[in-house]
Amino acid sequence: MTSCYLTIDDSPSSHTDEMIDYLVDKKIPALLFVRGDLLEGNLAPIIRAIKNGFVIGNHSYAHKPFGEYTYEQAIDDIEKCDRIIDKTYEQANVKRPGKYFRFPYLDRGDGDRIERYFETVSDVDISMDEKVQKIQTYLHENDFTQPFKTNHPLYKNKSIASAVDCLMTYTSFDWMLTDRHIGKWNCNNIDDLKHRLDQSDMKKFNGNITIFHDQEETLNTFKSLIDHMIIKEYKFLDFQ
Ligand SMILES: [Zn+2]
Repeated sequence: MTSCYLTIDDSPSSHTDEMIDYLVDKKIPALLFVRGDLLEGNLAPIIRAIKNGFVIGNHSYAHKPFGEYTYEQAIDDIEKCDRIIDKTYEQANVKRPGKYFRFPYLDRGDGDRIERYFETVSDVDISMDEKVQKIQTYLHENDFTQPFKTNHPLYKNKSIASAVDCLMTYTSFDWMLTDRHIGKWNCNNIDDLKHRLDQSDMKKFNGNITIFHDQEETLNTFKSLIDHMIIKEYKFLDFQ
């Protein structure tokens, strides 16, 4: 049985409640990386997710590529989202279990959107320029940690193993089926995404870290892919 962590980016959306109900029904744990700008006026679905045992991570306030920020702007953006997450946990009356951060597009501050090719590069050596390094130091000094325990081969790479931000080993590309993207990439329907998953290296390893999305158009794709993973006997791991 192959094991993986389910992480979901860009919450909340108008479908978050339905997505949480689906996951509760299937007994699947997940970590939701929230956008501060979307959460700010819509705490309720994330309070509900927390009360149902889901873990919340910081996915920045404005969801901009961090390569476009100065160091100071980057920290402001992280902290602005983090204050809203604290408030959400307070209102849920649940102790925040830890602080986790994922960069939008996995742009860690140098303009490289590694989300789109990261998993395919087994000997990837992700850059650590001065700004990237400074943000990593900030995250470390402000108690951000990794929620994953994994021996996945990608994590044998020193630059990945030492990262304080949350990376991944498999992205579902569920966003490729949204109106904005459909027809522009190599997966055009749900069968393409399932096929890609079946052909991936995931079955070879345990502790895979998967990325899905909670956006206005991704719920049906999400459910179809998770249903498919259940059929293929993936085991979904708990965090911490
Ligand atoms: Zn995102």
